[in-house]
Amino acid sequence: MFGGKTLFNLKYENMSFHSELQIIHADVTLEIDNQILIDEPLCIDVGLPALLCSTYENTGPVAIATSEEWDKLPFLVCGCGDPECRGYFFKVKHTQTQMVKWTELELTGDGNLREMGEYEIPLTEYRSQIFYIGIQFIDFVEHLNYQPYYKNTVQTAKKWVDRIANPL
Ligand SMILES: [Zn+2]
Repeated sequence: MFGGKTLFNLKYENMSFHSELQIIHADVTLEIDNQILIDEPLCIDVGLPALLCSTYENTGPVAIATSEEWDKLPFLVCGCGDPECRGYFFKVKHTQTQMVKWTELELTGDGNLREMGEYEIPLTEYRSQIFYIGIQFIDFVEHLNYQPYYKNTVQTAKKWVDRIANPL
C-alpha cells in the first residue's frame, strides 16, 4: 500500500458439483500483494452469497452462523461444506474513497475471530472480480438438480450479480 497498487486476485476455477453433499467445489486461488493466501480446492457455494453481498455492504463473519445467516458465513469453507469444520474468514469494510478494506481473520481455539492482515482494494476491481465469480457460479448450477443448504443461494447470487451489472 505504500504508493503501490494493491494487487488482488481471487479466482475460482474448475467448478464441480458434489451431488451427495449438494455443494459446489472449485480450485480457489487468492493472491494479494504477490502473496498467495489461498491455493486449494474448497467449497465455494456456502459462502458465495456473503462474498457477493460484500461488493456493496460491510460484511463480517461470525464463528458459527446458521443457514439463514448467509451473510455471516465465511466466504470459503472446507471441502466437506461445513463452515464449522474449517473456513477462510474475511471481514469487508467499504471506505469513503471507493476502496474496500479486506481483513483476514483467524478463528482461535476459543471460538473468537482474531484480525490478521488488512488490505485495501479498489472497489471497482473488487466488484468486477466477484461479479465474474458470481456469473460463473450461476452458469454452472443452471442445469443441476441442486438443493443447497441455504435454499435461496442461487436467487441471492442472482440478485447481487444483477445489482453489480446495473448499479443504481
Ligand atoms: Zn471439513
